[in-house]
Amino acid sequence: MSRRAAADLRHIDVWLFDLDDTLYPHDNGIMVEMRQRIADFIVKLTGKPADEARTIQSGWFETHGAALPGLLAEHDVTPREFLDYVHDLPLHQIDDHPELDAALARLPGRRFIFTNGAASHAERVLGKLGIAGRFEGVFHIESGDLTPKPHPATYDRMIEAFGIAQAATCFFEDSSKNLIHAHMLGMTTVLVGPESAGAPHIDYVTPDLIDFLNTARLKEPA
Ligand SMILES: [Mg+2]
Repeated sequence: MSRRAAADLRHIDVWLFDLDDTLYPHDNGIMVEMRQRIADFIVKLTGKPADEARTIQSGWFETHGAALPGLLAEHDVTPREFLDYVHDLPLHQIDDHPELDAALARLPGRRFIFTNGAASHAERVLGKLGIAGRFEGVFHIESGDLTPKPHPATYDRMIEAFGIAQAATCFFEDSSKNLIHAHMLGMTTVLVGPESAGAPHIDYVTPDLIDFLNTARLKEPA
């Protein structure tokens, strides 16, 4: 694992990005708001007090990787109701990001999003950041048959949907556990954000995605 030296990504021509807390800073409050919306939804659904709802929510994340599969396993609600409710966020924290756009534009090859969020949420976030045009495709929770990362089957579906070669793919994520299966599949893995603990399945760690992309060694144009 390397922290300081420029990353050697000359073997990469597929660029795969998580969305939330990866393409915008983890501390901007969007995910805090989203977790609050999930807790509110559980309170409305179950009538339980807020602290119990939080415990239920944490349990679903632990057991299922996300709230949605836990919810569907235990309650009679439609995914649409849940996804629309929790993604109904103002997103006032993010705006056009020309530096990010330029860093993405520099990357040779194909670029994709691989998110546990809903399609509509991904579209809004990418639109607000002004980077939607940089991505060839978005693999979201609905395309994952409502099964989130880190479930291995979801990686298989994503790889098939995009037709990518794992060995030429670099995956950027703020969640270390979502990089485990990516590493097993042969992808190069980059942990983005403040979670600084290294692990054998992580090739690079960076607190600053744009700086990392701007300094990485890339494949020469053919
Ligand atoms: Mg994330």
